[in-house]
Amino acid sequence: MKNRSREERIKSKWVGAHVSVSGGVFNAPKNAHDIGGVAFAMFLKNQKRWVAKDYDDKIIKKFKDEMKKYDFNTDYIMPHAGYLINLANCDPEKWQKSLDALIDELKRGEQLGLKYINLHSGSHLGLISLEEGYDLIARGINEAINATEYITIVLENTAGKGNTIGGDFEELKEIIDRVENKDRVGVLLDTCHTFDYGYDLATEEGYKKTFEEFENLIGFKYLKGIHLNDSMYGLACKKDRHESIGNGMLGMDFFKRFMNDPRFDNMPITLETIDQSIWKEEIELLYSLIAE
Ligand code: MN
Ligand code: MN
Ligand code: ZN
Repeated sequence: MKNRSREERIKSKWVGAHVSVSGGVFNAPKNAHDIGGVAFAMFLKNQKRWVAKDYDDKIIKKFKDEMKKYDFNTDYIMPHAGYLINLANCDPEKWQKSLDALIDELKRGEQLGLKYINLHSGSHLGLISLEEGYDLIARGINEAINATEYITIVLENTAGKGNTIGGDFEELKEIIDRVENKDRVGVLLDTCHTFDYGYDLATEEGYKKTFEEFENLIGFKYLKGIHLNDSMYGLACKKDRHESIGNGMLGMDFFKRFMNDPRFDNMPITLETIDQSIWKEEIELLYSLIAE
């Protein structure tokens, strides 16, 4: 590992952004390519609505053609599931609605030939215990896995805002422990959320401790992707307000450490920073942080 050239180290980091699918999902590859991305996230349907029209064969073909045209590898594409899904909702009707919506998204991902879908674990809404929340979430994940072919569900850590589950690495571990087919579940770390929850990624010592804890509790083998965001507010603020790279409380030293850390090689690294007009520059900046 030590002797890899800078070029090789650059090639092992797959940075992109959560791009627009305005006009159709097939527009995502070009949008990602235009900002110099080699990875991307996107929504598979309107993220604020329950139902959407099924993809027809033309849409699916066009997406796959665009993927080829811009030379994207499905290892580095991770769509984001809709915001309405809440598998920790204890109302049986709403839970079922969430499960159905998740299954629909997973099937869409499979139709497009994709490998991963990023999902928020959910919110217990202050109505049930954490334990009951883990059980509900895992039951939903197990059912969704059984209802689909192969795609992997990737749980995102949260900023700990409100009653969301999955801010603490322990909570993600509790959910994974309850998933039957562990080959089809993974974790995504959002760096803003990690810091906002209370893991101090801004200092060298805190960075070291945080990822040691992650390795010990969950394990890097479950880490399937990163949302790379700076944070507008301070450590443990639990606010979930993203900021452009280097403009927030995480600071440039964090991004330098991150871009030179081989534990984050060969996985999608997606920007969800607040100013889309500078994504191209942010991606260039990130690669420039890789040491000579
Ligand atoms: Mn998210
Ligand atoms: Mn995120
Ligand atoms: Zn966020």
